[in-house]
Parts: sequence; structure tokens; C-alpha cells
Amino acid sequence: MALKSHKEFICVIVGASHAGVNLAFALRREGWEGQIILFDADPELPYHRPPLSKTYLTDLEGLSATPLKSAESYERDAIQLNLGIRVASIDSNEKKVFLDDGSVHAYDKLVLATGARPIIPSIPGLGTTKAVFPLRTAADVEGIRKSLGDEPKKDIVIIGGGYIGLEIAASLKKLGANVTVLEREERILARVTAPEMSDFFNRLHTQNGVKVLTGKNVTSVATENEKHTVVCSDGSTYSAHIIVIGVGIHVNTELAAKAGITIENGIKVDSTARTSDENIYAIGDCTFHYNPHYDKYVRLESVQNAVDQAKVAASAICGKDCTYDTIPWFWSDQYDVKLQIVGLSVGYDNIIIRKEQKDQPCFSIWYFKGDRLLSVDAINNAKAYVFGTKFIKNNESVDKSKLADGTAEFKPANLIVE
Ligand code: FAD
Repeated sequence: MALKSHKEFICVIVGASHAGVNLAFALRREGWEGQIILFDADPELPYHRPPLSKTYLTDLEGLSATPLKSAESYERDAIQLNLGIRVASIDSNEKKVFLDDGSVHAYDKLVLATGARPIIPSIPGLGTTKAVFPLRTAADVEGIRKSLGDEPKKDIVIIGGGYIGLEIAASLKKLGANVTVLEREERILARVTAPEMSDFFNRLHTQNGVKVLTGKNVTSVATENEKHTVVCSDGSTYSAHIIVIGVGIHVNTELAAKAGITIENGIKVDSTARTSDENIYAIGDCTFHYNPHYDKYVRLESVQNAVDQAKVAASAICGKDCTYDTIPWFWSDQYDVKLQIVGLSVGYDNIIIRKEQKDQPCFSIWYFKGDRLLSVDAINNAKAYVFGTKFIKNNESVDKSKLADGTAEFKPANLIVE
């Protein structure tokens, strides 16, 4: 049998969002000459997801302003973009994918960039209400906008006080809605930040007129005449025209699991983004991958991780040497506050808070395990984010007392212990 030429090789990518789209273009840059075929269940030209809870909710310009890539770029790079099509299953022995329209496609390399979907909690009454929205897709934003109609002063209950829930709260408040956030834990952002940062965001939202209520476990929803009553376990009730759910995500691992690929808190991949099947890679939110800076497997929900893993997988698929070696980072915009996070704070046992002498809030929380810097949360403070990244990357020791002194000049030379 004649050997295939490079031009005859086929790379199929499932999922055309931050991870899948970046991979497709990175493959061309790395010299992949064969076919690149992208599939996504979402019918929209792939778009940036972070603005969904930020500017897409407040600007009425529509989505076409920020696609990930223009329609012409896919044509230029000969990337076949198939939208509104779900990949139903994989036959990894035959190296084929089966689509829900009944068609079958062969692959040489397959990349799973299937991301995640929102958790919809099984709260009695929630499933029967029309004006209930998660926020993961452009269609979700359109649904919220339509429900708001011309009367933005509606009552909105957001279930879940994580980053996405809080960004939605800030955006809907900007539009003039009456917003209540119900958080089950004793503080918002409990899973991801120190109590001091939770307090800061609680105050910020309260000052802007959002009701932030903690220790609120939603147990049922009743609907009458298009108005909902959200009931909590302590007997309190909240009236809502619209309910938005932001309680976390389920990772889309089902395709991989059915194909016999190893799953462990996500699709498990090695440092080249390869799964337990040598011809199948996985990238982005759907992966459980090794981070050498923290010497452990992690699952991240961040654009930067999706983009970085896409680059690594493209190199590996093209036979080049490249391994994943980045420090996670993330951001959140609420009102005029920019939060930047670098590193992973999980396992911290002490923190230093550094406040800058400025009129607007400008501070940073530095998370340590013993003397080892793990992570930094920076509020309106790009310097803290940049220095934190450098210190974590180089595993540098930081002088904690100098760091805590907000009157001392904030520069690396002052902070590093030789
Ligand atoms: P996803 O974006 O989840 O994309 C997966 C794609 O796969 C989807 O389009 C889906 O339709 C498709 N798919 C899944 N299964 C199939 C199938 N069987 N067949 C066909 N298609 C399939 N991150 C940040 O870093 N900063 C932020 O400020 C930030 N804000 C955010 C705000 C919101 C509202 C949301 C929802 C997310 C935010 N994120 C943010 C997270 C960030 O958007 C994700 O980390 C990123 O989208 C992950 O990209 P991905 O390509 O791995 O997965």
C-alpha cells in the first residue's frame, strides 16, 4: 500500500472555541499541510467567551464585533469550519468520528476541545420556568437580553456568587436592573480567594446597589403570572422576572469516555496534550493536565490555558518538541475594577496584603505556602500581577515585610531576598 503524502493527512477538531480555533490556526503555522476540519455544535461564528458576562450583556452591538477569527481567515488557512453540528461518537480503532447528522469522517489525528457546559441544579420548579438562563453561549446572552426587553429595571436573581455570577450582576446592574445574588456558602468567591478578597467584592457590589446574600441555599422556585419566587432553605423568598444561574460547570468528557480514553476530573493528558490514545489530543477546559510549576494535575477554566495548550498540541501533532509549562492566569472585570490572578492559591497557609497609596482601590493579595509564593490576586494593579508572575516563574523568595509595606517603592529589587 502506498504511503499517504502529508497533504492527505486529516486532523479533526471537536469544539471550535478558544482551544479548538487556536489549535487550527497554530497547526497551519507549525506546517501541517493536510486537512483541518473543525466541528462545533454552536451555530455562531466562534466568538470570545469572556465578554459574554461583561460587554456583550451591556453593549447592544451584537456578537459580530468580536469573533475569534474572521470568516475569511478560515478560508485563507484552508480550515473547514462546520458549525451547528455535534460530534456524536468516536471509533478510535477505525479512526472515525460520527456526527449527529449521520455522516462519518475519518481522521489521522483527533483533537478534543469540547470545553464545558453550565451546571443546572435540580431545584424543584426551576426547570418549568421560561426566564431561567445559564451563561455560557451567545444564545444565553440573547435570551437574557430578550427577557429584559425595553424594561431593564426588572428584578433579577443570580444563583451563585462566583466570578461569572458577579460579572453578570455588575453588567445587569449597569443596565438598571434590581439584582440579588444568592450564594450558598458563607462568603462569595469562597472556593477561589481569601476572605479579604471576598469582603472587597461584597462591598463593591453592595456599594453599587446589588444585594449580595450569603448562606442562601435555593430549594425551590414557584412561578405565577410570569413572575418567579425563589425560595431558600432558611424560608426567605426573592422575587424575580429573570433567574440567572452561575453555579459552575460540567466538563464535556462524555465523547472521550465512550471512546475508552482515560478520564480523571477531565480528559487526562500528558505534557504534550496527548490523551491515553496516541492519536487523540485534548486541550482547554476539558483537560486534566500536569502543571510543572505546582507539580500536580489541574483542571483550569481559562482562556490562557486553552490557548497555551492549543500551541503545545499543534507542535506535538506536527512532530515538534514542545511541552506545556505555563503559570495559570485569569482576569475578571466588575464595574471599574480589574482583577488579575496569577498562579494557583490552592494549599496556601499565609497571605500578605499590599495596599498602594492611591485614590482608587489598588491592592494585591499574595498567597504563600510557608515562604513559597503560590499566587497573587491583583486589584487594579498590573505591577503586582507582573511581579508575581516573575517571582513564581523564577521561584524567587520574597521579603514579606517589605512586600507588606505599602509606603515602600514597589519594585522587584526591593522585594527579592538574595
Ligand atoms: P469552550 O469555550 O467551552 O468551548 C468548547 C466548544 O466545544 C463549545 O463551543 C461547544 O459547543 C463545543 N462542543 C462540545 N462538545 C461538542 C460535540 N460533541 N460536538 C461539537 N461541538 C462540541 N476565562 C478567562 O480566562 N477570563 C475571563 O474573564 C473569563 N470569563 C468568562 C466569562 C464567561 C461568561 C464564561 C462562560 C467563561 C469565561 N471564561 C473566562 C472561561 C473561558 O471562556 C473558557 O476557559 C474558555 O472558553 C475555554 O475554551 P475551550 O475552547 O476549552 O472550551
